[in-house]
Amino acid sequence: MSEYVHAAKFFSAACGRDRRLSRGHRGRQVWGLPPGRRPADRQNRRAVWPVDRARLVDTHIHGLLGHDVMDNDWSGIAAMSQHLVEAGVTSWLPTTLTGSFEQLKAVCTTIADHAGEEPGAKIQGIYFEGPYFTTEHKGAQNPKYFKNPSVAEFNEWQSAAQGLVKKIAIAPERPGAVAFTQAVAAAGTVVALGHSDATFEQAKACVDAGATVFTHTFNGMSPLSHRAPGMVGTAMALEGVTDELICDGHHVRPEVATMLIRLVGPEHIALITDCMRAGMMPDGDYTLGEFAVYVKDGMARLKAGDSLAGSVLQLKDALSHLLAWGAGTPAAIVKMATQTPAASCGIQHRCGSILPGRAADYLVLDPNLHLLETHLDGALVYQAGH
Ligand SMILES: [Zn+2]
Repeated sequence: MSEYVHAAKFFSAACGRDRRLSRGHRGRQVWGLPPGRRPADRQNRRAVWPVDRARLVDTHIHGLLGHDVMDNDWSGIAAMSQHLVEAGVTSWLPTTLTGSFEQLKAVCTTIADHAGEEPGAKIQGIYFEGPYFTTEHKGAQNPKYFKNPSVAEFNEWQSAAQGLVKKIAIAPERPGAVAFTQAVAAAGTVVALGHSDATFEQAKACVDAGATVFTHTFNGMSPLSHRAPGMVGTAMALEGVTDELICDGHHVRPEVATMLIRLVGPEHIALITDCMRAGMMPDGDYTLGEFAVYVKDGMARLKAGDSLAGSVLQLKDALSHLLAWGAGTPAAIVKMATQTPAASCGIQHRCGSILPGRAADYLVLDPNLHLLETHLDGALVYQAGH
């Protein structure tokens, strides 16, 4: 039996206000209706007015609810999946920190062995944040594990992950970064640039070699100056790249986030959370990797040095923040949390759009982009206030 859903607006490539959901191999899938045609079976038509529908994809998230991907504990990762739907996330990439070769390989094996068993938001791959970074902009990444890029080493991680590593961030000034980018990008993994003191020329050389993403733009990278554009200037100036942005209001000032969005456009901005284990948890003391962190006033900071240590942002809140900042139309804002991040990691054929044949994963948002409901495979899995 089909069910029809109706919305004031669908944030999707296809137009119209109705969608038919029919049973597919895993659960309900989305099927379109010709524009202007209303469902014949009105009884099965579910109308919530006014609502907007979208599906959020978090492509850079380390932890939640006391768990961290680097704990290498499948039950913790599964719990993250289960509760990410409360943040409006229907697809995500578990994200690593810098660590030893063995530690990272073990995390790859664990996720590859269990991916698909997660109870909530779907794991669409793994994001390797590091370990090929440089110390000048280490942020909260542990420099003990920083080293030069090695394709052979990466290939071992990728095979332990059974091909699930969709994206890896590196610092372009590391010796061998250009050759690494060429090889890894050609083999189908997205290369991102971050935690780096690179010059414009160094960063551009990696983009020319195939790098396509800038990791949490402005944070952990050489700043823009009018004679030395640095990593930030490269992220702003080059075409064909996607800039990750943490919109919690603390990592980047609202005016600056808005400026970047206006400059490069929503099709080149991927909203991420960079959330660490204190996400959805009370203020207090936590750890990030091997470092002590404290959480207060919506920020996670290293106890030593006070550097920001990831965030406690939920992706759904980035939408309402951007709307309040006047950073774009609702459609543009939703695009930055759905289609753009999915495309930036090469997973747009699996998530990020409500299209015929796709799993019926979608959200119901109010006109202020607050989350009302999350649906996975056509089933309601979260309702705000319940
Ligand atoms: Zn980072």
